[in-house]
Amino acid sequence: MQLPHLIGLAQAELTDFGAGLGEPPFRARQLFAAIHRRRLLSFAEMTDLPKELRAKLSEQTVISTLTLESRYLSSDGTRRYLFKTSDNLPVETVFIPEERRDTICFSSQSGCPLQCTFCLTAQLGLLRNLTAGEIVEQIIVALNDAYGAGVKAPRGTNLVGMGAGEPFLNFEALMKAIRIMAEPSGLYIVPNRVTVSTAGVVPRIRELATIPDRPHLAVSLAAAADELRDQLMPINKKWPLRELLSACKDFEKSLKPNERFTFEYVMLKDVNDADEQARQLANLLNRYELRAKLNLIPHNPAEPLPYHPSSTERVESFRAILESKGIHAFVRRPRGRDILAACGQLAARSVSEARP
Ligand code: SF4
Repeated sequence: MQLPHLIGLAQAELTDFGAGLGEPPFRARQLFAAIHRRRLLSFAEMTDLPKELRAKLSEQTVISTLTLESRYLSSDGTRRYLFKTSDNLPVETVFIPEERRDTICFSSQSGCPLQCTFCLTAQLGLLRNLTAGEIVEQIIVALNDAYGAGVKAPRGTNLVGMGAGEPFLNFEALMKAIRIMAEPSGLYIVPNRVTVSTAGVVPRIRELATIPDRPHLAVSLAAAADELRDQLMPINKKWPLRELLSACKDFEKSLKPNERFTFEYVMLKDVNDADEQARQLANLLNRYELRAKLNLIPHNPAEPLPYHPSSTERVESFRAILESKGIHAFVRRPRGRDILAACGQLAARSVSEARP
C-alpha cells in the first residue's frame, strides 16, 4: 500500500488528514509550514511537533518520495538533478542562478509522449505523469541543495515548466502543485512567477485562460508553416498552426496589463533558420496581432538528434528580420550545456555517458 505523500497535500487536505489522526488544525498548519516554508524533509528535524505525532506520521506517511540519483554542477553555476521516483522512473530538474533571481526548470512527466524531433526527452516516450507532490518536491530539493534546508532563499525564485514532459497533458497535478507552491505559509512562489510551456495542447490553452490564479504561458513553435511543424512537432497534425494561434489569440484576452505571453522558437541549422522563415514567422504573428514576445533558443546538439545549432550570425540575422517587422525577439543564452542541462537535453543521461 502506498503511504500518503505529504508534500503533495494542500493545506486543507493536510488538515483533514490530521483530523483523521485526532490532531487539531493548528498541527496541520505547523506541519505544512515545516515542509513548505522551512523545507524540512525529515520528521526528526520538526522539533516543534510532539514526538508521538512525529512517530505516528513516520509510520503512516512519507514526506518525500524522490531519490536523488545524480547531481551535476555546471561551470556557469547551473545545477542539474536526476531523481528516481519510488517506482524507479527518471525525473530531471535544473536550477539556474541569476543575478537577481533563481530559476528552477521542473519536469511535469517522466519522459514525454510527444515526439518533437529536436528533443532528447522524446526518445524516452511517456513513462508516467508525475504527481503534484513529485513536482513540488523537485523545487524543495533544488532550493535546499542551493541554500540548505530551513534557509530562506536570498533571491526570488521563478519556476518554468519546461523540463521533461508536456505540462498540459498532466494538467490537474500541475495546477495543484502550482497552488501548493503559492501558499503564503509555504514556499510562497506565486503563479505570477511561474511560466508553463506547451507544445500546443489547444484545449488546455483555452482552459488555462479561464483560471484566475493561472501561471504565465509559453508556446513552443519551432516552425511557422504547418508542413515543417508537422515534422518537427508532430502534435501539429492534431492542432495545426491556425488552431494554435487562434487559441493564443483567445488567451490574449486573459492577459493582465503588463503581461505578455511568450513564443519559443528553437533554432535548427538549415532547417528553420533562413531569412525567408523569419519573414514567415513575423507574418504569422502579425496576422494574429499577438501581444507576445519571442525567445529564440539556440538548439543544444545532443547525440543522436540529427540537428545542429544555427550560427550566431544566422540567429542575429533572423532576430533582426523579426525586429524589423515589429516582433520583439530575444536570444536565450544557453545555460548548463556542459552538464546536459540545456533545453531539449533532458533524457536521464549522465554526463560521463554522454562524453566520448
Ligand atoms: S520538447 Fe517538450 S513536449 Fe516536445 S518531446 Fe520534448 S519534452 Fe515533450
